[in-house]
Amino acid sequence: MRRAALLALLAFGLLACAHLAASLPSQSAVLKRKRGKKRASAEQRQLAERDWVAASVQRYLSNQELGEWLAGFEKRCKSVAKLSTIGASAEGRPIWALEISDRPGQAEAEPAVKYVGNVHGDEPTGRVLTLALAEWLCANHRTDPRAKRIVQSMHLWLVPTMNPDGFERKIRGNSQDKDLNRDFPDRFSSPTMQPSGEEQPEVAAMMAWSQAVGFVASASMHEGALVANYPWDGTADKSTRYEKCPDDSTFRHLASLYATTHRRMAKPDNPEFPNGGTTNGAAWYPIYGSMQDWNYIVGRCFELTLELSQSKWPEEAGLAALWEDNKDSLLAFPLVAAYGGLWGTVREEGSLRGSKGREVAPLGGANITVLAAATGEEQPAWVLSRAGLGDYYRPLAPGRYTVVVSKEGYKPFAANFTVPADGSGAQRHFVLAREDSSWSGEVAHAPRFLVGAAAEGTPTADGSAGGALPWKARLGLGGGGDAGQLWAVEETRGRDRLLMLGAGAACAYGLWITHSRLKRRSHPRRA
Ligand SMILES: [Zn+2]
Repeated sequence: MRRAALLALLAFGLLACAHLAASLPSQSAVLKRKRGKKRASAEQRQLAERDWVAASVQRYLSNQELGEWLAGFEKRCKSVAKLSTIGASAEGRPIWALEISDRPGQAEAEPAVKYVGNVHGDEPTGRVLTLALAEWLCANHRTDPRAKRIVQSMHLWLVPTMNPDGFERKIRGNSQDKDLNRDFPDRFSSPTMQPSGEEQPEVAAMMAWSQAVGFVASASMHEGALVANYPWDGTADKSTRYEKCPDDSTFRHLASLYATTHRRMAKPDNPEFPNGGTTNGAAWYPIYGSMQDWNYIVGRCFELTLELSQSKWPEEAGLAALWEDNKDSLLAFPLVAAYGGLWGTVREEGSLRGSKGREVAPLGGANITVLAAATGEEQPAWVLSRAGLGDYYRPLAPGRYTVVVSKEGYKPFAANFTVPADGSGAQRHFVLAREDSSWSGEVAHAPRFLVGAAAEGTPTADGSAGGALPWKARLGLGGGGDAGQLWAVEETRGRDRLLMLGAGAACAYGLWITHSRLKRRSHPRRA
């Protein structure tokens, strides 16, 4: 195991222990109990946890009951949950948002994903599924690997009802009888994507909140069919046809993931969608002002519209089965969307750190543009690294791509990478140099500082350096990372080229690097 990883694991272990200790009622009292008694109480606790999940799928809760349940949930599960409101409905009912994370309420370099239920008032299954998901994550985040990963590596936001007024009336629209999924700024509205200022309060709240949090991916939950729907939702001439968005392959990948992980959606007996349980929105029927297209364009947020039940307002007796149908999909989608594509951090070269290295600070607002190398087809949609944290998440279908990382005032950087088919994603960390500076590059792990050196070498054999570009190289080393895999590039006066450090890499370098691993491998200093 790499040393850095080991240290991180140790640190995490200590934190987790402290965390666990703090959440137990009285540790000394527990320790005094006999072993058998201890086991019995643990079993009882587990039983109680299972009951919360079961109870959440018994029946539809009224708006008031939902508010009370959420408040109780936050108390029971406060180590992994924080309740807030994103705004209020036209009639003043709160629109709740439950944040699930091991550090709820804190800014972390982790992706945010959301599920939004009950967009249409007469489609309430999202209220049940978000609640069941929250309960299940609370009950299983110490034992189940998927729950653990969601809680530890992202912030999952659950909005059980976006339309509490419509639910109260059992109607599709809100209290003003407006369809909230037709009320968002649209790419065909004029001016394009500009809010009119007359959006319904539920929509205005959703827009403001979505932009404030900055989601990587999301899904809105509906009823009336069994299908995972993806952009675009509309066509310019209002005709019904497949309307590809620039990220068609990624959306098909994510929609297919949801459908095939679902117990019934992708099965051939799906009455309306027997061929895989997915559809392009406009190919089904074009709509305008959808939340899905708005999220994708404005938020760079990859949103699916999930139709989760053939019948609207399904019978309460079927809610437990509905949860079982969707459970694995609800767990898989956030992880694959956020971590199954390209993700990592962007940092910038900082000030000199003594005579040895340069500190690197998180760089927000860097543009991550991905080109599909295999087809040559450009995928113009980009994501930005996050202000203050520098992290970025770019959902992608499996394949081979080129990424260009750029920001005004900085030297752009490009690299090739592969997104594996198993959903494990490609993790890449970049360091951008200011235009007037000497650095640009990529590092194998998010480093705390860099050490620079003049260098010469040959491009890497695996082509990961992006051989098509005229590389002039300078070597970088990230402190706290694995130096053996680390490389960086720079355009200099002519003879330096891309260099990769690591076992087997052909390279020669002149340097003043002090890292112990490198010292052992150093070649003679060049003149
Ligand atoms: Zn709907």
